[in-house]
This record gives sequence, structure tokens and C-alpha cells, in this order.
Amino acid sequence: MRTRFAPSPTGYLHIGGARTAFYSWLHARKHGGRFVLRIEDTDRERSTEASVNAILEGMTWLGLEYDEGPFFQTDRFDRYAEVIQQLLDKGLAYRCYCTREELDDLREQQMARKEKPRYNGKCRVGAQAREGVEPVIRFKNPTEGAVVIDDLVKGRVVIQNSELDDLIIARSDGTPTYNLTVVVDDWDMGVTHVIRGDDHLNNTPRQINLLRAMEAELPIYAHVPMILGEDGKRLSKRHGAVSVMQYREDGFLPEALLNYLVRLGWSHGDQEVFSMDEMIELFDIKDVNGAASIFNQEKLLWLNQQYIINAEPEYIAHHLGIHLGKLGIDPSEGPDILLVVKAQQERAKTLVEMAQISEFIYRDFDEFDPQAAKKHLRPVAQEPLEKMKAALAALEDWSIEALHQTVQQVSEALELKMGKVAQPLRVAVVGRAASPGIDETLALIGKEATLRRIDKALGFILQRVQAG
Ligand code: GLU
Repeated sequence: MRTRFAPSPTGYLHIGGARTAFYSWLHARKHGGRFVLRIEDTDRERSTEASVNAILEGMTWLGLEYDEGPFFQTDRFDRYAEVIQQLLDKGLAYRCYCTREELDDLREQQMARKEKPRYNGKCRVGAQAREGVEPVIRFKNPTEGAVVIDDLVKGRVVIQNSELDDLIIARSDGTPTYNLTVVVDDWDMGVTHVIRGDDHLNNTPRQINLLRAMEAELPIYAHVPMILGEDGKRLSKRHGAVSVMQYREDGFLPEALLNYLVRLGWSHGDQEVFSMDEMIELFDIKDVNGAASIFNQEKLLWLNQQYIINAEPEYIAHHLGIHLGKLGIDPSEGPDILLVVKAQQERAKTLVEMAQISEFIYRDFDEFDPQAAKKHLRPVAQEPLEKMKAALAALEDWSIEALHQTVQQVSEALELKMGKVAQPLRVAVVGRAASPGIDETLALIGKEATLRRIDKALGFILQRVQAG
């Protein structure tokens, strides 16, 4: 068994492509088969090396390792030429000398008669070479019978050959076309299962006819529906991030994205979170829904949070370090990053958010959050903050336990509930009203910065008093 992913390198790795690749990968892994990566770069105008790299980078980040490839179609032109020649020799393909103008006229006439535009087979028999016309090569599609596709996702699809025309397999400059290269490759690479987007379903009968003409064994097909945005239109940039690498930038874990993608159009009871082993075991391409699915950013965020909560702190620490770095923070200059992760692991939906809400641990903030300051940095907070400052300044053991006791003792001495002390203190040292437990928060910030920030908060309250 062999599956493949065959992207055209004309852009980044798109969410939809990643899902198709993942389904192919899962199918191969489940059945002990091999997964092939093939870069379909024959469109030289639109294919770029940057895009090849972006696709490879996306596959690597997702952990979709391939067993064979990457193969590049541009390395295989000799092979395509050989197959085209064989088809010509066997009389299964022919040179067509019809000019652009003739084809345009034909098209217009057909449209006027409300017929489906298709090539009329004029050069199929006895065409003469015409001076100044470089011929294209067309495949002699059977004129009778039907092509039956037993698609693993779409079910049985039947197309009459009378609906198909003689497909161009080589352009006038000799370069092979998409349908030809795909079938030669699928055949040569021993692909047994073609899992791809259903935007290719209309190519499949033509490809099957070509494979038959080459006397190749037919693969099994599975056409996966498109992913739509919440407005029911095909997912695109308008709906938000569609590039896989953008999700890395935005602080998603690759496992969470894969889990989300596998669930999009496939389910196993009510289960939402799957380990990779479970996905390999439970996923069955036959169970993929034939109708399009709608991308739901909220659900992806929720799933990402589940993965962050349940991951090993060391793993999150690695990713958090990268995102802190993007904020210009060197995590080695702060407390042990594992302590930061443990304090924040349940508090962020993305790693970007985790980095943002951890910024206060590494550097002083500029401004207090206005809402939080208005509510908690009031004249009544002055005494508790002064008492806290004195107690903390005297504290030598800056451990979570000792800090906890100190906050508790100050609250008791003032006959205040702990929250009445902890909340102004939190706003003073974090700048906002939300953070991990106050003892943990102070431990992460360290003594020097804590005292400095309390002073700043006291100054803020004083200014407020003076301003009336
Ligand atoms: N290269 C094609 C694409 O990117 C896919 C071809 C195929 O899967 O057969 O859409």
C-alpha cells in the first residue's frame, strides 16, 4: 500500500492541503504502507522554490514525515515524453493541428447551441501537419461506455465517456500536462490509494482512461471534500489564517492542529481529543464525510488549550521559549522556564497568549491596565501595599510558601480578607488583575522587581489622591 501527497508549489501549505496530506499519511500508517511526497512543479511560471520550502517546512512542523521523496516532476520530463511517445506509437494519442482560432470558434458555436464546450475530435483521424502550427498531443479518449469510480469517500460515481473529450497530454512546446504527469507518477510510484481534494474528482475519469491505455493498474480513489469558512464559502485568507505556518506563528501546537483537522469531516463517537496512536488506529478514510466541513476557529482554540494543558511542561517550555524570544525576551534571564509553564499552563489558549501573559515575569510593564487600576489601586489600597512592601522587604526566604504566609499575615494584621490585599498587590506587580496565585506570581517576579513595582503603584495611588 502506498499513498501520496502531491502539492503544486505555488504557495504555502494550506490548511486544506495539510488535512488531505494527513489523511493520506494516516491511511499509510494505519495499514503499514508508505507515504510518498511528490512536488508537482511542472507549471514553471507559478512554481517557486520558496513555496517548495514552505511546503516542506509545514510538513516537518506537523510531523508528517514521508517515506519516499520528495520527488519533483520537473526531474521526470524524459519519462513523460517516453510515455507520450508510447501512446502515439500505439495509436492511443494523436497530434492535433487545430489552431487557437479554430478552437475558439468551435467553442462559441457549441455555447450558442447550449452544448458543453468540448473538442470535436477533428484531428483524431488522418490529420495533416500544417505549416506554422506546432501540434499539441491529444489522448484518444474512448467514445463509448462509462467510467465507474468506487470512491472511498464519495461512493460510486459514473461518468459516460460521451461526456469527455480528447484531452491534451502535451502542449505545443512538448511539455506534458497535469493529467498525464499525475497518472504516470501514480503508476511509476506504485500509488495504491489516491487521497486528494474533491476539486480533482472531475479529472479522475480522464486519468482512469489514461491509466487503462497505459495498461497500468488502477489505484483506489478517495476524494476529500473542501473546507469552508463560516460563511459557507471556500476557506481563504478572508476567513483568517489558512497557512499552516501561520498557525505556528500564532502559537498553536502541531498536534492540536492535526487533531482539529482529522476531526473536520471525520468523527469517532463524541470523542474530540485523540492521541496520535488513537488517530492511526481509529481513522478510516471510508468514514470521512462526503460533504464539505466548516472551519471553526473557536473549536481549534479550545483544542489547542486542551493540548497545552495536557502536554509535558518541558515540551511547552520549548515552544514558549520561542514565543518569548519573539517578544524580545531571553527566557534564560528570568526564573526557570518550567516554573513559568507550570504557573501558566492552564491560563492560555495559545503559546502566543502564554508568552504575552508571562511578559511581566521578565520585564516591568509601562502602564497599569486602566480598569484594573481604577478598581484596585485606590486610596484604601495604600496601607495594605505599604505593609506588604515592608513585610516583603524583610523577607529572606523568597519561596512560594513563605510568600503565601507573608500575604496571609499582613491580611490578618489588617483584619482584611486575603483578596483585599492580594488583588491590589497583583495589579501593582503584574499591571493587570489576572495572574497565577499571588504567591506564585511574586516568586516568579523576584524580590527586587516586586518591591520596585509596589513603589510604582504607591506613587500611582498618591498621584490619584493629589488629583482628587
Ligand atoms: N498537484 C495537485 C494540486 O496541488 C494535486 C494533484 C493530485 O493530488 O492528484 O492540487
